[in-house]
Amino acid sequence: MAKVIIFSGAGISAESGISTFRDTGGLWEEYDIKDVCTAGCLETNRDMTIEFYNKGRVALKDKQPNKTHYEIKKLQDKYPNDIKIITQNVDDLFEKAGCQKVLHLHGFITEINCEQCGYIQDIGYKPIQSHTICPNCKNFLRPNIVFFGEPVPKYRELFKEIDDCEIFVIIGSSGNVINTDFLLSVSDVKYSILNNLEYSNAINDKLYTKVIYRKATEAIDEIVADIIKYLQNVQ
Ligand code: NAD
Repeated sequence: MAKVIIFSGAGISAESGISTFRDTGGLWEEYDIKDVCTAGCLETNRDMTIEFYNKGRVALKDKQPNKTHYEIKKLQDKYPNDIKIITQNVDDLFEKAGCQKVLHLHGFITEINCEQCGYIQDIGYKPIQSHTICPNCKNFLRPNIVFFGEPVPKYRELFKEIDDCEIFVIIGSSGNVINTDFLLSVSDVKYSILNNLEYSNAINDKLYTKVIYRKATEAIDEIVADIIKYLQNVQ
């Protein structure tokens, strides 16, 4: 297990032009989360849900990783066994930056899957039809995304990783979807860094060793320097 967890949310991709929940002008402004991102919406609102993820997938094609993704890739290259990247994001910017074994807790937008037989296909940046059929079991395929209210099987892996980690770094997450204070409380983390643009009501920032309210691209050099200093001292 890795000594360092880099745990990210929508804010890490904001500087690449992918909007967070609260940003204006993004896809989230055109759609209501309850219509397209809630358990059951494929049954009650299939066409709009498929369209929403189609738009997100197509738009992702031209989006590029930013300095934060690239600095994390360099850090992972330097310490391949010590750095675990865990993200709530469904975009592929870590992968485009060259990062390895990224744990996507809430799914991956370039994939479609079959809930019935477990079939998964990476379709890149292409849109799909509302009623695309699974080649194995003829069920309808869906975006490989976890909607609010659905089980999140990858949380088991998250908790395993958290159990052994010594440094916990949060970049660009408001703590509303996953409570990062709770993750900290169930771990034996020795050093924690919280980097967001601003204070969030869902996070008690007094719990974190270091708090940086700045753009991730402006904070990442300090974050990487802290991690390297820690790893050099323990190795
Ligand atoms: P959130 O939208 O609730 O919060 C975003 C956080 O990022 C805020 O705390 C904000 O201060 C911070 N932030 C914004 N710009 C930043 C920047 N440039 N540098 C550093 N921090 C910045 O995001 P969340 O906590 O990830 O929860 C939202 C959920 O929505 C997640 O489940 C996520 O999967 C999903 N989502 C994903 C994407 C994506 O894949 N890129 C985009 C939007 C939403």
